[in-house]
Amino acid sequence: GSGDNGPAPGDEIEALAKRHLLQPWESLEHLGQSARTVLDRAENIYLYDSEGNKLIDAPAGMWCVQVGYGCREIAEAMANQAMQLAYNSPWYTTSGPAAELAARIADKTPGDLNHIFFTTGGSTAVDSALRFVQFYNNYLGRPEKKLILSRQSAYHGSTYLSASCSGKERDKVFLDFAGNLVHHLSSPLVYRRPDGMTEAQFCDFLIAEMESTILEKGADKIAAFIAEPILASGGVVVPPEGYHKRTLELCRKHEILYIADEVVTAFGRLGHWFASEEVFGITPDIITFAKGITSGYVPLGGMAVSQKVMAEVSGSDAKGAVYSNGYTYSGHPVSCAAAMANMDVIEKEGILEHVRDITPYFQDKLAELDALALVGDVRGAGLVGCVDCVADRKAKNPLKLDSEVGGRIDAHCQEKGLIVRPVYNMCVMSPPLVIRERQIDTMVGILRAGIEDTM
Ligand code: PLP
Repeated sequence: GSGDNGPAPGDEIEALAKRHLLQPWESLEHLGQSARTVLDRAENIYLYDSEGNKLIDAPAGMWCVQVGYGCREIAEAMANQAMQLAYNSPWYTTSGPAAELAARIADKTPGDLNHIFFTTGGSTAVDSALRFVQFYNNYLGRPEKKLILSRQSAYHGSTYLSASCSGKERDKVFLDFAGNLVHHLSSPLVYRRPDGMTEAQFCDFLIAEMESTILEKGADKIAAFIAEPILASGGVVVPPEGYHKRTLELCRKHEILYIADEVVTAFGRLGHWFASEEVFGITPDIITFAKGITSGYVPLGGMAVSQKVMAEVSGSDAKGAVYSNGYTYSGHPVSCAAAMANMDVIEKEGILEHVRDITPYFQDKLAELDALALVGDVRGAGLVGCVDCVADRKAKNPLKLDSEVGGRIDAHCQEKGLIVRPVYNMCVMSPPLVIRERQIDTMVGILRAGIEDTM
């Protein structure tokens, strides 16, 4: 630093980062070369970079900053808790915030999902759920029931196990080791369904594929189906009508546990605390959550397990069963205090109602971009949407956004005051939930200009 106690200039921060900071998904080929925007501060839906530029945060960080930046209630709850009890060991103690938050979440989950296990984020939540179903079947005396059904394009996290369940090409490297553990079904992406099928026929096709896979592999070998209600980073994939209920029915019929990965869809993104029941009409066995639970102010994740499933592995018949899984920071009191303050803000400010009210406006505005030549499809639900860019609208072949063209959309948008998140050929929009109509106009207007400038 310059010794004046002021913030380090952006280029100094950038230089330090390039030299010493290994960032997620860093290109090792270009190690220390790629520049990332240096952020300095944030307020509401706006980020300010180190040069003072104001940018709309279209992805809400990583789809997590639900109540927006600069929320004093959350910051104060964290500070107060840190002074009162900064930490407790979840091995042999518990704390008010962890117990109260568990009860509060149990009250919001669908059905009887009333046992809450806290983790440090979404990956560890998924990892914990997957490990739980393995323990579950071991204790029920069927250790061969271990296979996990997932889907192409899914994203479930970055631990070994959660990455193995993810269905993106770049994660397949893990399947060298976990190939016998995970089977990927087709992505339920309606836009790229096989030619000539209606949406209803596509749904039939997906269900038939799942059923024939179960019969072929053997239901006695399959432990769980893990599914995001909407595949988020796989391209905001909203499955066809009826898909959720029918996949759950198949799971019930074949005694396969259903894990809904609601890391993105919970805590208001679709206008409800959880989306499984209220949006898609299903009650899974396990729900994983993270991100929006603290609006990203501090890390926290977890899973909710049903009373029915817990009852099967607890009690006198459990033969010394221990769910041997836990983290130093499970139920961290500061994280749990932040989560409760976040839930207070969501309730007090009517944010779930706001999301439900403003969803049609947001989705309609985004849909207007469908008229652009580079755009093949616009899709979404609640306050999450995606603009799918194609090289050719008929062939629907994805236009690589991480190639030069996509980089240009991103660069044009940043120049005009918007951070977008290009994922391969898609621009993902999942703004803070407090966004207003005029802000949506500006956000979509800049994205339109960014795409037009690129054509
Ligand atoms: N599950 C889903 C559906 C996600 O979108 C993500 C992250 O984007 C994860 C799990 C992993 O969460 P985390 O990055 O907090 O570990």
